[in-house]
Amino acid sequence: MSDKVNFGDELVSPEEKTRRVGAVFSSVARRYDLMNDLMSGGMHRLWKERFVARVKPRSGEQILDMAGGTGDVAFRMVQRGAHVTVADINPDMLAVGRKRAERRSLEHLSWKVENAEGLSFADATFDAYTIVFGIRNVTDIPAALREAHRVLKRGGRFYCMEFSSSDWPGFSKLYDLWASNAIPRIGKAVAHDEDSYRYLVESIRRFPRPGAFKAMLSDADFVRAAAEPMLGGLVTIHSGWKI
Ligand code: SAM
Repeated sequence: MSDKVNFGDELVSPEEKTRRVGAVFSSVARRYDLMNDLMSGGMHRLWKERFVARVKPRSGEQILDMAGGTGDVAFRMVQRGAHVTVADINPDMLAVGRKRAERRSLEHLSWKVENAEGLSFADATFDAYTIVFGIRNVTDIPAALREAHRVLKRGGRFYCMEFSSSDWPGFSKLYDLWASNAIPRIGKAVAHDEDSYRYLVESIRRFPRPGAFKAMLSDADFVRAAAEPMLGGLVTIHSGWKI
């Protein structure tokens, strides 16, 4: 059983998980940005602004936005002068992102199909590595963290934003009700895909708590691993440095 991993609440083989995560995002790609607004009541925009303010992208920096999907976080970072490589395992998500970037005439962006667990980039390529609402979908998280460390330059920064189960008792109940009932229903009505949104909710519930994720960052040799909770711990920004 030890070779099984969770796909939401189901136990499947690692290969099956990667394949099914791929199917989820291919299925939601076209409606992904609209769904983010509906599911979070627009809040994801504020979380991403806050995240990018933490990353502090600078002119001339090379940033890897891993699991970058349709480019939402990358766009905010190029607007601050960095060059951003948007990498994602799913070509359908990247295709939507490229079209959005063209419509906005954004420059300083590269797009690349990559699996976070084994990157094609040379050692010490990037000044910062970002991964937003992506890492909980990755099958082998420790492998992805080791790769993040490898492709960062010395002094490079790692930033991850991810959902976490809330520690506020009242809020956590309310959130659970919203997540388990409303999100799959919105998914059914808007994206005609209830199952994919049920997976998203289950994967959020299963992601390691901030303390456990901090320990995984330290295991991958990041120093000063930190977790900064927002909104009663609903969302957490994790950071670490490569020395
Ligand atoms: N970062 C974007 C954002 O916040 O809008 C997209 C987040 S979306 C919820 C998760 C993304 O992770 C999807 O685009 C999916 O294809 C990607 N993903 C899942 N597993 C991956 C892997 N092993 N390597 C790279 N990307 C992966």
